[in-house]
Amino acid sequence: MRYGIISDIHSNLEALEKVLSELERESIDRYVCLGDIVGYAANPNECVELVRNLTDLVIAGNHDHAAVGLTDLGFFNPEAAKAALWTGENLKEENADYLRGLELALTLEDIVFVHSSPFHPERWYYVLSLNDAIRAFLSFKEMICFLGHSHVPATFTTRAERYGIVEQPSFKIEKEYRYVVNVGSVGQPRDYDPRACYAIYDTGEQAVGIKRVAYLIEAAQKKIKKVGLPEFFAKRLELGA
Ligand code: ZN
Repeated sequence: MRYGIISDIHSNLEALEKVLSELERESIDRYVCLGDIVGYAANPNECVELVRNLTDLVIAGNHDHAAVGLTDLGFFNPEAAKAALWTGENLKEENADYLRGLELALTLEDIVFVHSSPFHPERWYYVLSLNDAIRAFLSFKEMICFLGHSHVPATFTTRAERYGIVEQPSFKIEKEYRYVVNVGSVGQPRDYDPRACYAIYDTGEQAVGIKRVAYLIEAAQKKIKKVGLPEFFAKRLELGA
């Protein structure tokens, strides 16, 4: 089974279309979306509709919840709150209902999929450091957990109560190890690499690959400015930050 795993699209249609066109050539059996389909950029409906048609394996993110009134905007900075309100006003009712109905986590055999962290997913904790990862490892039993939320790709591993970081973007699953894999962000990377980020997990090969692809950033930026969303959201796309 080959999984194509995407997260944190944030209404960036140009990035999503580019990633999906790359994945089309990868013999993917099942697509999974780890949430934050909307927020920040200008195409929430188009992105929701693409993801809806792509797969049933879709998790809610905090920005999806914020756009449809399920998360208190007090947790957002003023600019992000502005984007959430704009998204809520511009989402078609059927797409808003779809976002409201998404689960917070999914388990398939030995894989956990979640947006933020397997530790109280509804509290939207970040898994950024090894300490965060240790907390995550202690809260699930399966072999591997894929998550997003931080927009920074990273892989953490554990065996026999020892913990570590996997530096390579592509790696083989080793027996007796467990993994937490942050698949990065399709539509708003924050690791100073502005290319769209996504992951492939091949259960037959027991291999995970974090992939990057360049897309038309200028087109996404123009639309953000045109609809009147904060300019910072356009600027940060080219910075990858
Ligand atoms: Zn996000």
